[in-house]
Amino acid sequence: MKKMKDYEFWFVVGSQFLYGPEVLDTVAKRAAEMVDKLNKGGKLPCKVVFKTVVKTSEEATETVKAANFDDACAGVITWCHTFSPSKMWLNGLKLLQKPWCHLATQYNRSIPDTGIDMDFMNLNQAAHGDREHGFIGARLRMTRKVIAGHWQDADVAARLASWMRVAVGVAFSRALKVMRFGDNMRNVAVTEGDKVCVQEVMGWQVNTWPVGTLVEYIDAVTDAEVDALVKEYKKLYAFNTKNLEAVRYQAREEIAMKKMLDAEGCAAYTNTFEDLYGMQQLPGLASQRLMAQGYGYGAEGDWKVAAMTAIVKAMSEGQKGGTAFMEDYTYELAKGKEYSLGAHMLEVCPSIAAAKPKVEVHPLGIGGKADPARLVFEGRAGKAIVISLVDMGGRLRMIVQDIECVKPIYKMPNLPVARVMWRAMPDLKRGVECWITAGGAHHTTLTYDVTAEQMHDFAAIMGIEFVHITKDTTVESLEKELFLNDLAWKLK
Ligand code: MN
Repeated sequence: MKKMKDYEFWFVVGSQFLYGPEVLDTVAKRAAEMVDKLNKGGKLPCKVVFKTVVKTSEEATETVKAANFDDACAGVITWCHTFSPSKMWLNGLKLLQKPWCHLATQYNRSIPDTGIDMDFMNLNQAAHGDREHGFIGARLRMTRKVIAGHWQDADVAARLASWMRVAVGVAFSRALKVMRFGDNMRNVAVTEGDKVCVQEVMGWQVNTWPVGTLVEYIDAVTDAEVDALVKEYKKLYAFNTKNLEAVRYQAREEIAMKKMLDAEGCAAYTNTFEDLYGMQQLPGLASQRLMAQGYGYGAEGDWKVAAMTAIVKAMSEGQKGGTAFMEDYTYELAKGKEYSLGAHMLEVCPSIAAAKPKVEVHPLGIGGKADPARLVFEGRAGKAIVISLVDMGGRLRMIVQDIECVKPIYKMPNLPVARVMWRAMPDLKRGVECWITAGGAHHTTLTYDVTAEQMHDFAAIMGIEFVHITKDTTVESLEKELFLNDLAWKLK
């Protein structure tokens, strides 16, 4: 899979011939200068490339066609330095398949009080040109991110950077392959979904491989490979077990799964405790380690959460907050300290650990296999979101909830798994009512890095329903929103 730095964004500036060659020359020079300074500013995750000043319908169309077929181009950023008549853009924009950001900016920050005359007005009329450009986007009902403000302002660069990460997530999603070991857990509804629909809408290729093939990979791992990996474990984690054989088996599983995923070009995978034929342990530490390396994981065959976790990790590459596969387990309902306790029976990504994780080995009642090694830790405190993607029958709904993670209020010394404690917005009880009303799953992707605005933008580009539960959401307003969304999606 491509990394963040492998992508670039095209900066395309709108103008026309009306103003003469000098103005067009100035527009091109300024656009090149802006791109150069944006790149050197160090705030953007990917390079911006100044492509062209569009002056004709043919130029707009050729630029869009080239962007569509350039695999390195993750998105197009447009801006109209002068007025650029939009019927000239129409044919091109209709073909656009890449994410689109309309940067409504202008070269100068301030109006030059004594320097302003009609020449200045004709050259610097983005306020005018960007409205014409905005109309054609609206008229064509196109999804685009509109970011307004001076291009040298930190908040504008931050918003552009955030959108660029979303666009990289879109490119990642459209190329994503998910490896399934075994089927979904028997009888579970929410982890199911239409894999053809998901490939059409999100791009994911979700396919199955035999657990027996994975066992062959596990058996082929050498002792030397295991030795090297256990050495790395010892550097990164505190060992709270004497059962080194169990740890070594997880290392074997990690190496085998990574080899198999890489051989097939898969960046996410699922497994299920109901199908571990020939394996000695359910992968615990092994899955935690693969998630920390950027692979998406879903337990009990949950390929939707596996894919979403991989995408969110790709979007947040290089950020330090962490992203994990998560599950709502149990509540603290005592008044004044109402929290959710999230965990999984083994597989929580250590990227969200507040301190050095401990390697421990404990029995696992489920799955009927040997005691698996796992990393035990507390999740860090801070603002985060949880994301769930559910199949509503013929379409997808993304549900995002704002949460505030806290240091767990209990030590829970007999709980043998990683744990995260949080307060859902608007509060635990209303938050749970909203989540359940919307049909959100028990499995989620929990992230401290990616924001609800980014997931909103991602859902908009993918053309799927987006539901955001915030501090201001009420059950009544949410019910009305879901009802209207259902009507709208029936018309689509
Ligand atoms: Mn689960």
